[in-house]
Formats: sequence, structure tokens, C-alpha cells
Amino acid sequence: MFIILAGPPGAGKGTQAKQISKRFSIPHISTGDILRKSKHLTDEEKEIVNTGGLISDDRMGEIVKKRLEEPDCNQGWLLDGFPRNRKQALFLEENLPVEIRPRVLYLEVPDEEIIDRLSKRLTCESCHAVFHKDANPPEKEGICDECGGNLVTRKDDQPDVIQKRLEVFHEKTEPLLKLYDEKDMLITVKAGDDRGISKVFSLILRELQPTE
Ligand code: AMP
Repeated sequence: MFIILAGPPGAGKGTQAKQISKRFSIPHISTGDILRKSKHLTDEEKEIVNTGGLISDDRMGEIVKKRLEEPDCNQGWLLDGFPRNRKQALFLEENLPVEIRPRVLYLEVPDEEIIDRLSKRLTCESCHAVFHKDANPPEKEGICDECGGNLVTRKDDQPDVIQKRLEVFHEKTEPLLKLYDEKDMLITVKAGDDRGISKVFSLILRELQPTE
């Protein structure tokens, strides 16, 4: 199964991606995680990531192409965070074998909810697990339940950066959804209004495996 997971920042893509990847035994490829873990970013690129801008399309294309060529991607993958604009979508289309037609899963969440979620999000410095100060707090304050790492607020989860990331999403990424819809590749799942992680996951499964 080949899936492009789309949605505004804070829509729950990372959380759902982990479950989808496990369920279908496909690698979860998050371009944001790749960038945050990379030791080869220039100072300028680090600044772009921290302030909610977009890294250059050529650089992202190179990173994604290399990752998709790894053997674990032969039978499927879940791309989270790519493509983010028209040029990246075109790049992906041109670099995939014609028989691969990914499904584009869009997690739809209203902006007000995104702002609330991201401003209260805590992320583990070590394993990148995410928590929410109210809705999904860690058992021990400041400590990751999964690996014991430190929980921090990501630099790009500061209020002004959240606003910028949302603007970038609406301006650059949202138009892609229309494009994918016209190609009949789009699946929209309503992932807001406190539906909860497991409810959203079951809605996703219903779309991906309608016969089960
Ligand atoms: P994310 O975790 O997907 O929200 O990504 C965090 C940040 O990494 C984004 O705000 C961008 O600065 C950068 N980034 C991730 N994916 C891409 C992409 N496909 N194109 C450009 N920049 C990206």
C-alpha cells in the first residue's frame, strides 16, 4: 500500500502514521523527522525548519528519492510531510513507477483546533513521541512515557510559528488536495472535533479497507 498522508501541522499525521505503518507493515517516512534528525542541515535550513518555512524543493526531492529507493520501500510506504507543494507533487509523480498510484489521505482539522493542539503539544527529544498537556499528558511531567526522554515544546510549535505553518499549509499544500481529488486519489477523513486517536484510526481503516 502506498499512502501520502496530508493535513495541516498538528492534524495528527505522525500519530496516525505510526499506527497505519504498523497495521500495513509499511515504512513511515516523515520528512519533518528526517530533517530534525539530520546532522547535515545548513544553518539556513535549520532556521527555515524552526521558523515554519519550506526547505528547497530540490533538496527535499533528493532526500525523498533516496529514501524511497531503499529496499524496505518496495512493497509500500507512507509519506508524511511530502509533497507539500505543486513542484514536489510533480517531482514525486515523475519519479514513481507508473504502476504506483498512491492514495492521498487527508486529515481535515479546523484551524482553531490546530492552534490549540500545537500550542499544548509536547514532543520527546529522543523518540519524537507526542503528548498534549491536557488531552494526552505524560504520566510523569516532562518525561516521555515511551522512552524516558525529555519532553519539550518544538521550536516550531511556538504561537507565531504555528500561525506561519498554517499559512504555508493553506497557501502551498491545500491546493494539492484539489489536484489529487480531480485525479480521484483523495480520501478525506474528518480528524477534528475531539474525535480522538482511535476513532480517527478506525475512520482511516474504513477508508483504506472498505471490505473489512
Ligand atoms: P513537519 O514535521 O512535517 O511539520 O515538518 C517540519 C518542518 O520541516 C516544516 O515546517 C518544514 O520547514 C520542513 N519540511 C518538512 N517537510 C518538508 C517538505 N516536503 N518541503 C519543505 N520543507 C519541509
